[in-house]
Amino acid sequence: MQCPKCGEENPLDSTECSFCGIVFEKYKEKQQNKDELEIESPPPANQRQSSRARKKENIALALSVIVVLFFVYIVFIYPLTLDEIKEKFLWLLAFRFYL
Ligand SMILES: [Zn+2]
Repeated sequence: MQCPKCGEENPLDSTECSFCGIVFEKYKEKQQNKDELEIESPPPANQRQSSRARKKENIALALSVIVVLFFVYIVFIYPLTLDEIKEKFLWLLAFRFYL
């Protein structure tokens, strides 16, 4: 039989290669394990990137939720009229210019 590693011809009943010394059964097992590992190996780079992109989307979603909650707080819960909010905003602007 032909050696799967070095390609030399060996007698049919031989269990190992007389040229490179590998044991055919062990070599076959190794190759099979390798194939299985390749199947279980992590997904290709583009899929990993998409999961990273999904993470970014989650962060953006969380930020927008925080912004919406902040506005809900300002408009409905924080006991200020629109004029008072304007006044505070102007104070904030003035403070920024002061700095
Ligand atoms: Zn060989």
